[in-house]
Amino acid sequence: MNVRDSEHMIAELNEKEPYELTETLSEADLIIINTCSVREKPVAKLFSEIGVFKKHRKEGAKIGVAGCTASHLGKEIIKRAPVVDFVLGARNVSKINEVVNSKHAVEVSTDFDESTYAFGEYRSNPFKAMVNISIGCDKSCTFCIVPATRGDEISIPSELIMQEITKAVKTGAKEVMLLGQNVNNYGRRFGSSDEKCDFTQLLQKISTIEGLERIRFTSPHPLHMDNAFIEEFASNPKVCKQIHVPLQSGSTSLLQAMKRGYSKENFINRCAKIRALCPEATISTDVIVGFPGESDEDFLDTMDVLETVRFEQMFSFKYSPRPHTEAAEYTNQIDATIAGERLTKLQARHTEILDEVMDAQMGRVHKVYFDELKPNGRVSGRSDDGKLFFVEGSEELLGKILEVKVTKTSRGALDGVLL
Ligand code: SF4
Repeated sequence: MNVRDSEHMIAELNEKEPYELTETLSEADLIIINTCSVREKPVAKLFSEIGVFKKHRKEGAKIGVAGCTASHLGKEIIKRAPVVDFVLGARNVSKINEVVNSKHAVEVSTDFDESTYAFGEYRSNPFKAMVNISIGCDKSCTFCIVPATRGDEISIPSELIMQEITKAVKTGAKEVMLLGQNVNNYGRRFGSSDEKCDFTQLLQKISTIEGLERIRFTSPHPLHMDNAFIEEFASNPKVCKQIHVPLQSGSTSLLQAMKRGYSKENFINRCAKIRALCPEATISTDVIVGFPGESDEDFLDTMDVLETVRFEQMFSFKYSPRPHTEAAEYTNQIDATIAGERLTKLQARHTEILDEVMDAQMGRVHKVYFDELKPNGRVSGRSDDGKLFFVEGSEELLGKILEVKVTKTSRGALDGVLL
């Protein structure tokens, strides 16, 4: 979401003035720190970065802070660091031009009019487009700060989404990534529009766009994975066979404490349905270990889900309390050493599974969409199921979907030859 928000701000700025991106800090006239506060220690990091930018910036360069940390700290940022020129919340990126020239402007409102939502025509990769289909989140997971920073969940009308993707396809994108905090809850609330369209119907609509060959989405919520959605995922040839199913914990009682809305059994059942209808799918997940109150048995439940589902990809983290979240106030916090040991055990087992998954790819053939030129005469791309590929080649491969046979495997990527 943050990458797309950055693209959106660049597009909005370029509507008014032709900005150019620079990698050199001392050349920049405008520095925007687009923050995330989901996991690390964002506040301390933000103020240390502001200090670095203040010291090394070009004379007179403006500094803006955007994103989730901007949303929850608001004007406090300017109070603590008066060098900051403006603060723009995660839900307000469309308003960048309203704040960029107003000294000490703060725009962090959670009001949102989906019918006037402008997508912003800038793509960091010309061959792929990222498109927001909803903004905000209505859930109340007790470890998460997103609802406080991005506001209530509002779906963008499907007509606007269709227009945006059609435009992207006309300018070279064959693949779209649909973005939202809970994409498969799409259509639950449209704000001012009375449209009736759920996520399954949205996928069907989008797949009618001529020239669009691949549709990806992130992130769905296990709670909204009904059979119709999984059947569409499995049978629609334009929908890539890669799906993120965030587990967080395998323990039903911890899932309740997290307010996730599903049980261990529901979760396994949904993954089994995906595997049954779409055996070639890659399933990825997120796991938090050491959540307050996690017992040895709770952790074994998480290990059990890993063993049962055998996720091809897993993003796992030690729980860290986020300010302004319910779980940060829980008194049964877990000892950091115990949480660290559990994380090591979980990741070690996942590495074994991943090695088996990747080794089994040797000699297989995938259709790869090439989208990035790499150093040393190599080109990279992704297979339909999301695996990263490298082949020898030149820019002629960019924007093409070609068959590749795997010749070398590793945990993170596959090498191959064009057929
Ligand atoms: S579903 Fe839960 S974890 Fe995801 S953004 Fe919403 S509150 Fe956060």
